Amino acid sequence: MATHCNPSLGLSEEVVAQLCNPPHGQSSAPLDTDLWLALKLYLLNPLEATYEANCTAILCHSPHTNLQSYYRTTHLILKITGIESVIHHMCMNLCITYTSPFLNLKACPMCSELQYNQFRLCLSRGKEWIAHQEFHTIPVGPQLQALYHELESAVQAYYLCEERECILSEINRMGCLDKYSDILHGTDLIEAFQDVHIGEDDIVLMFSIDGTQLYVIKVSAC
Ligand SMILES: [Zn+2]
Repeated sequence: MATHCNPSLGLSEEVVAQLCNPPHGQSSAPLDTDLWLALKLYLLNPLEATYEANCTAILCHSPHTNLQSYYRTTHLILKITGIESVIHHMCMNLCITYTSPFLNLKACPMCSELQYNQFRLCLSRGKEWIAHQEFHTIPVGPQLQALYHELESAVQAYYLCEERECILSEINRMGCLDKYSDILHGTDLIEAFQDVHIGEDDIVLMFSIDGTQLYVIKVSAC
């Protein structure tokens, strides 16, 4: 079972606190039009450089627009959603991430490439420890919690609870379902509803995978 208490997991204290103590009601104060514009630009521009380029173009046209920096908008989104990426350093050749047994290594055990950029390290006289490569993980817990911040997505997330009730009451009355027409009508899920492994307040995360590479160097026929 995943746990947020593992220090190598990398979630900030703020996010762990929010995960354990979900906010109730509206998550944030209403945003002004400039902040909305900054959020839209952030979502449309995956790169900081294109975000800043768009901001410059907008400011040329409308100099009084108050557009904040990419960094500040990133923090605003974190504050609103509670979602942040967990960053781990990784080998520049993508062999490993520096977690668990590799956490304290300074070089890749597979290809021997060093973890940190030695040029930057020398240039800064040992002050700038910049990894060659980073791996970002966006944990699912805060993403699920964020679904409950807005009424519309909260109502959609409530679908499981409502359908669970319908399924259980129909089976109690009829012994089985009249129609099996929903992904929640599978035998495994119905059994989990009946023995309360999935209760009325639970969130169910389903995972389906296809086309897995089963061998390192062989193209899988699956
Ligand atoms: Zn490597």
